[in-house]
Amino acid sequence: MKSQIGLFGPPAPDPSSLPEGPTAASVLHDVFGYQGFRPGQREAIEAFAAGRDAVVVLPTGGGKSVCFQLPAILRRRRGLGPTLVVSPLIALMDDQVQALDDLFVPSIALHSANREEDWRAQRDRARAATLIYVSPERLKNAGFRRWLQGIGLAAAAVDEAHCVSAWGHDFRPDYLTLDVLKTEFDLPVIALTATATVRVMQEVAKTLQLRDPVIVRGDFSRPNLAFSVELIQADKARTARVVQLVSSVKSGRTVVYSSTRKRVQALHTALRAAGLKAGYYHAGRTDSARANAAAAFESGKTPILVATTAFGMGIDRPDVRLVVHASAAGSLAAYYQEAGRAGRDGEPARCALLYSSVDAVTHARLRGTRPAPGAVAGWQAMQDYVFGTRCRQQMIVEYFAEEPGPVCGSCDVCRGPEEVLASVQATRAEHRERHEARTAKKESDAAFDVTEDQLAVAMEFVGHLNKPLGKALIAKGLRGSTAKAVKRKGLAKNPRYGALKEVPESSLLDALERLLVDGRLVRKGRKYPTVWLPDKAVRKERDPDAPPRRKRPEASGLRGALMAYRTTEAKRRRWKPYQVFTNATLDAMLAARPTTRMALMDIRGMGDKRVTAFGARIIELVRQHSD
Ligand code: ADP
Ligand code: MG
Ligand code: ZN
Repeated sequence: MKSQIGLFGPPAPDPSSLPEGPTAASVLHDVFGYQGFRPGQREAIEAFAAGRDAVVVLPTGGGKSVCFQLPAILRRRRGLGPTLVVSPLIALMDDQVQALDDLFVPSIALHSANREEDWRAQRDRARAATLIYVSPERLKNAGFRRWLQGIGLAAAAVDEAHCVSAWGHDFRPDYLTLDVLKTEFDLPVIALTATATVRVMQEVAKTLQLRDPVIVRGDFSRPNLAFSVELIQADKARTARVVQLVSSVKSGRTVVYSSTRKRVQALHTALRAAGLKAGYYHAGRTDSARANAAAAFESGKTPILVATTAFGMGIDRPDVRLVVHASAAGSLAAYYQEAGRAGRDGEPARCALLYSSVDAVTHARLRGTRPAPGAVAGWQAMQDYVFGTRCRQQMIVEYFAEEPGPVCGSCDVCRGPEEVLASVQATRAEHRERHEARTAKKESDAAFDVTEDQLAVAMEFVGHLNKPLGKALIAKGLRGSTAKAVKRKGLAKNPRYGALKEVPESSLLDALERLLVDGRLVRKGRKYPTVWLPDKAVRKERDPDAPPRRKRPEASGLRGALMAYRTTEAKRRRWKPYQVFTNATLDAMLAARPTTRMALMDIRGMGDKRVTAFGARIIELVRQHSD
């Protein structure tokens, strides 16, 4: 454990100067029932309890909550007011409030799933609480902040503080307004995170306007973990390798992570077929199925669990001997958090990652078209790790600590640097070849000359259409494609369907573009540019192949509210509305009317990411429309 106290300012005050009363150590023992501090906790607690600002970077499971909960208890015992805790996830807040309740530490959560009347009515409870949990968006509300001013807060904590940083892997704009904790409330502030590079840490301190914060940084090296990466292209081969790796574990527990629910299910099936005792877990399963899977894993009935990243928060099994990533994580930070669930007991454990170039495509899709810079940087770091040829442990520690660490001696690179280098070079060469083959095809397609006769055929195809159509579909129709969209539009019935099979699609698109430039075809349609003959009127009657048009009832009530919210989110992110959630998901929400995060998770299309991003507001809307 290294605590770089004073990186941003003078050293923490001598703990002996703390006022008389219960000590941190006694509260740790009497209230929490812990035998001693974990690395970093003492430094963080003493600094924050003495009124200093602090940034605490400890690995997941390192025990960050105690770093603000314990000082909050000390403050109350000294007659000071409650400590405000800003936390991004309603589920996390509720969990902590529940846990504190069990310890008889009064606390409440005021998140956006609570209505305004709710928190206004909670004044007395809030004043009496030791900890008040709030969501960051709550604090954007000036009325709420005025109300808070009347509570007599003594200090504030910002959990998951990397959300402040656009360079972090989980940027949340709502975190940017948290400087009010200093500027309006002038409280001692402690910021906590598991994943912060020095850059992110500095950004956290600056954005929150911390004054001379004490910096407590945990040790990120995990000497008992042996990391390895295998480059395996085909899913089938990856599945076989997962089965092999999992079979080799003779004791303890195993977690297999994959990025999609479909792959989780496929891997689970393969493991079962190999006679292994495996369960599976993802956000698409029902509450009870998930709870059963988690319980069977806990009890050891199924010591192997295949899961998406929805599984993990709060899971603290000490005897996980193997964490296999059957596909890359979205960022190195996420990877380390997940892989780090291995070997909590300090005994040797293995962290294997199986990488295919398909993962790059999957994660690009998950990031969307306008990802935060941190998301891109995080993926870049994941790739650098995958294709790295230095000690894995060293690469990870350097990424988080930005200072060189020792080599581990147990990772694949330490054990066989030549093999790793050879495999990385072979994979790079393969990728290059594939890329070159694709480019060559594009070039040969581009060299294809579309004749005047063929152009005439394309014009005829357009002439037979009964309404304007996009270029891509026209090209597909001309090539006789059997794609669903082509069928749906009835293009197979066009007399010229498939008449230009021999022409590459890209050449047809070029040819259509040329016809447009020449004015032999014209564009119609504003939202989706479509193609039409210059002097032909567009008939108003319906396309006979189109499904009967239903008049949409004017959206009102909850449906209207959810649709309006979806539009707002889509605009803000420059997404298409369906990317926020689809109509099918909307219908499912209207049917289920979820009022909890768990209920929302069960709705098809509401994965962990979406629930995190939109869940609070959706739940708020459902509750508003519940009568
Ligand atoms: P983090 O927020 O850093 O991921 P948590 O605060 O959720 O970690 O704590 C992780 C686990 O460690 C919890 O189960 C907690 O009870 C336990 N824990 C924290 N501090 C100590 C300690 N000093 N001794 C023993 N267990 C601890
Ligand atoms: Mg935590
Ligand atoms: Zn190593």
